[in-house]
Amino acid sequence: MQRIILHFDMNSYFASVEQQANPFLRGKPVGVCSTMSRRGCIIASSREAKTFGVKTGCRVDEAKMLCPQIKLVEVDPPKYRSTTENIVRLCKEYTSEIELYSIDEAFLDFSGLIKSFHQAETLGQIIKTRIRQEAGEWLNCSMGISYTRWLAKFAGDTAPKGGIVIVNPQNRLTYLKGRDLQEAWGIAGALASRLNALNIFTLDELARYSPINLLEVFGIRGYKLWANVNGIELAGLEQRKIPKSIGHSHVLRKRNRDEKFHKAVIMRLAERTGRRLREMNLEAHGIYAFMRAEGLGDFGVSRKVFQPILTTWSIYRQVLEILAPFLKKGMPTFFALGLFNLQPKSDQLSLFEKPKSLNLVKALDIINNKYGEETIVQGDLAGLSDGHAPDRIGFRKTVGLDD
Ligand SMILES: [Mg+2]
Repeated sequence: MQRIILHFDMNSYFASVEQQANPFLRGKPVGVCSTMSRRGCIIASSREAKTFGVKTGCRVDEAKMLCPQIKLVEVDPPKYRSTTENIVRLCKEYTSEIELYSIDEAFLDFSGLIKSFHQAETLGQIIKTRIRQEAGEWLNCSMGISYTRWLAKFAGDTAPKGGIVIVNPQNRLTYLKGRDLQEAWGIAGALASRLNALNIFTLDELARYSPINLLEVFGIRGYKLWANVNGIELAGLEQRKIPKSIGHSHVLRKRNRDEKFHKAVIMRLAERTGRRLREMNLEAHGIYAFMRAEGLGDFGVSRKVFQPILTTWSIYRQVLEILAPFLKKGMPTFFALGLFNLQPKSDQLSLFEKPKSLNLVKALDIINNKYGEETIVQGDLAGLSDGHAPDRIGFRKTVGLDD
């Protein structure tokens, strides 16, 4: 059976959704920023703003210098999420095998449903039209169609804005020919330099290189690089076998009003949950926290989150945010916390496009600091677990599998 995968990537997504919502912004340079303050940064720019050099990661005052007439809007996650939900709902009419890779990218698996790449292209056109009709006329996307997940994304990433590219077994090598290594999904600067050292400069050279040599130099990663460009499927749509949720809970035998102790217990639970998340290479799009307290009863909240949860620190921070008002009031007897809406970990940066300059890396740090990322985790985690982590706490692990 011919595998047929279609990848789509919405163009200038956040900015286009803003232009969709406000016709006054259409055709104008728009920057979606983290906060409106001068030190805020641009996390998405419209097609028009990009022509002025306003890129993801620009600081707001830099963006104004590059393009004085730029229209700035503050990031509005619920708006983008609901638009994505509309798009996904519509795609589900064509296949149930969908992997939402990031908020503006997805893989659709048509294998067994249609017979040819040509039919996939027709379906792709229909989906593009329906996105414009039903999710918003200002919304455009690029599509890639191929026989592996990797090649489909590569085709989509390299397609002209708004276009559709098919990579099939016949044109694969021609399509790769002469292309820079860094055009490939997953090959960045450092890895490209190491490949250059082996005299590999283009993607077709990588495809023709000896996989044994690559294995020797890079280990399994080297084989994967070779397999990806040679159209050998390694992953499939990665949604199977992913648990519905992961979490931990704890019954407190010692009852007290020691908030530091309770926070340390929560940190422990968060840490274990975070470790499992990382071991399984997943990210979470939902979080829940629950507690029982003497004289206060039960309290719990579960919520979806816009920025995928990847770290112990962000679990801890969000659980505290949920439980904080109740920690002060009663004497807790039970805590439970966990994550749901789990997905294979995507490149966090894909949301904000590829880093291209040091400035961007700095800006992403700002974004990361705002949302809580690894860098913050180290220090705070160390500080807390050194001082207050209680010994010998029994943790109950909860893992719900899909089937
Ligand atoms: Mg995009």
